[in-house]
Amino acid sequence: MAAEVKQDVCVGCGVCEGACPVGAIKVDGTAKVDADACVSCGACAGECPAGAIEVK
Ligand code: SF4
Ligand code: SF4
Repeated sequence: MAAEVKQDVCVGCGVCEGACPVGAIKVDGTAKVDADACVSCGACAGECPAGAIEVK
């Protein structure tokens, strides 16, 4: 259970990196989620302007 970033949809804006309360996202071109650190809170998905993040 972790956030998944659709790499073909992400525009690399960095909003999710700032929104994540546990620092589980790093943006380097596109957003990458550390699945071990992610607590599936959904904050990133709610903030992403491109709708690129799905939290399962
Ligand atoms: S679901 Fe929450 S903990 Fe996981 S990457 Fe998104 S903001 Fe961070
Ligand atoms: S907020 Fe969305 S579009 Fe922006 S870097 Fe994160 S996943 Fe990509």
